[in-house]
Amino acid sequence: MTTTLLDGIGLLYTGDPEREEIEDAALVVEDGRVAWVGHSRGAPGADERVDAGGRAVVPGFVDSHAHLVFAGDRTAEFQSRMSGRPYTGGGIRTTVAATRRAGDAELATRAAALVREMLRQGTTTVEIKSGYGLTVEDERRSLEIATGLTDETTFLGAHVVPEGVAADDYVRLVTGEMLNACAPYARWVDVFCERGAFDGDQSREILTAGVRAGLLPRIHANQLGEGPGVRIACELGAASADHCTHLTSADVDALASSGTVATLLPGAEFSTRSPYPDARRLLDAGVTVALATDCNPGSSFTSSMPFCVALAVREMGMTPLEAVRAATYGGARALRRTDVGWLRPGSRADLVVLDAPSYVHLAYRPGVPLVHQVFHAGLLLEEDVQNPSAVGAF
Ligand SMILES: [Zn+2]
Repeated sequence: MTTTLLDGIGLLYTGDPEREEIEDAALVVEDGRVAWVGHSRGAPGADERVDAGGRAVVPGFVDSHAHLVFAGDRTAEFQSRMSGRPYTGGGIRTTVAATRRAGDAELATRAAALVREMLRQGTTTVEIKSGYGLTVEDERRSLEIATGLTDETTFLGAHVVPEGVAADDYVRLVTGEMLNACAPYARWVDVFCERGAFDGDQSREILTAGVRAGLLPRIHANQLGEGPGVRIACELGAASADHCTHLTSADVDALASSGTVATLLPGAEFSTRSPYPDARRLLDAGVTVALATDCNPGSSFTSSMPFCVALAVREMGMTPLEAVRAATYGGARALRRTDVGWLRPGSRADLVVLDAPSYVHLAYRPGVPLVHQVFHAGLLLEEDVQNPSAVGAF
């Protein structure tokens, strides 16, 4: 088995809580996994050597919340919102109409293009939700397309109640026929628990049905206002409660005393000109925080984890270390993954070499393309990121 030594790392952020940062570091990759991590001077020999040239290295970003299977465009809605109209969530229906009209090949091509866009920016694990089909067949095919791009697929039939359907009838569909059709293609079940989408009782019913079908729960909670979402997540042992923008003290306490990760999606607040979640309050309470893009055509059309890191530092009271931790280790916890999100012996060799001496530059130099090289399962993707065959193994 060929081993590769990556040395000359100026600063390695490992994501491993036991040894988070190592200066003048090296790392050995064997068979797609990290075999050794430590100071350069103690590095073992290897068959091949790659010199990082003093650059910083971080684990590949884990984007634990993205909506990538859709068609259509919402530029006009964004323009109108930036002219003063508030975000209501109703625009989802525009994307639903376009997605239903699109062929499978178009949806798959567009989703793959977004995954490649993410990869170029250092994201080596991504979760992909359905939720723009809202019929049994359109949700099923959305998830089938997602399974071609990632293992982390999420059934979000309960994104919004489609036009012309009674809410109770739709909940019955989502927890019955649609769930049965989608469960074989999904790892997770999700619901948009929000005024105007699904209330607490409906959300609990949908997640519980998903769990009975063998799926793991996660939830869109407390984005537009206070509500029961976060408490339901904690009560059901969900891996993650996502958004967490409007929290009561009881919500923060519930998160702190549960294993549920708070996944913050600052791209949504940025793109809707809304107040950001208070990450500082969550971190100070001992909650595990993740950062993700929420990449979707309506409320957050960014695929960039570095951008989210910068927003988290500037707008949400996180330190650069906390933000990078949330974008790697935190994202992995939000997906219940122990093989990604950190670099330690045994983990998948997913890593990003930054054109910078420190991970701090991700926030210090916002908007600058700092990704120098991306390794996915030990393979250097720098030359291959334009090639569709280079993705698909997330
Ligand atoms: Zn979302």
